[in-house]
Amino acid sequence: MKAYDRVLLKLSGEALAGDKRTGFDEDTCIRVANQVKQLVTEGIQVSIVIGGGNFWRGRTSETIDRTKADQIGMLATVMNCIYVSEIFRYVGIPTEVFTPFQCGSMTKLFSKDGVIDCMSRGGVAFLAGGTGHPYFSTDTATVLRAVELDCDIILMARAVDGVYDCDPKLNPNAKKFHEIPLQEVLDKKLGVVDLTATVLCIENKMPILLFGLSEDNSIVAAAQGKSNGTRMIV
Ligand code: UDP
Repeated sequence: MKAYDRVLLKLSGEALAGDKRTGFDEDTCIRVANQVKQLVTEGIQVSIVIGGGNFWRGRTSETIDRTKADQIGMLATVMNCIYVSEIFRYVGIPTEVFTPFQCGSMTKLFSKDGVIDCMSRGGVAFLAGGTGHPYFSTDTATVLRAVELDCDIILMARAVDGVYDCDPKLNPNAKKFHEIPLQEVLDKKLGVVDLTATVLCIENKMPILLFGLSEDNSIVAAAQGKSNGTRMIV
């Protein structure tokens, strides 16, 4: 049973790379595609933002100009979306890839109407290229698009399975939150989602459900309101 009518699914680039941590793990991408197919079949409208961390992170470069590094990062997300969109087509889901800047014949220029039209025809819209501006992240692009597209929730699939009070990799006693107000995420500097994205969520009352991509059927469970992840609420 679906819990939402329209969702924005954020896939971290890193999670799509699986154990390889770079590039793509095809099996992971096919598993994601089959789960999203189930969502679309249940009548849920789905748009997808993919990070670029499996190829490139602008902020980690100390040698080249930040703006140029971020441009490479945004282009990495375009490659990710074109690849994953093709995997979706392979499992039988119609897709369209949108960018906030012209990419010739490779993508369509983002517009709210264009994306809603794609979703209402049973297609999945891939929102590539982030916000189109440097000094932002794909998390911020995710919140911006979710608000703009009137989504019910952001489903954030990560390599980690929820929000913890401290790093679970460093502390085996780390406690996972079932639900946490976004303001608390901000106050406690939990750093799950970047500051700009968190504030944009709070200002626009946009909830986020953060869960592990590697858990069996976790995207379907998230869309049905049965997730083991953390609900970040306003
Ligand atoms: N980026 C950007 N503007 C945006 C979105 C992304 O400049 O609106 C760049 C930035 O360099 C970032 C990279 O693209 O480091 C990849 O995005 P992100 O780090 O958000 O991917 P993730 O870490 O979630 O895989």
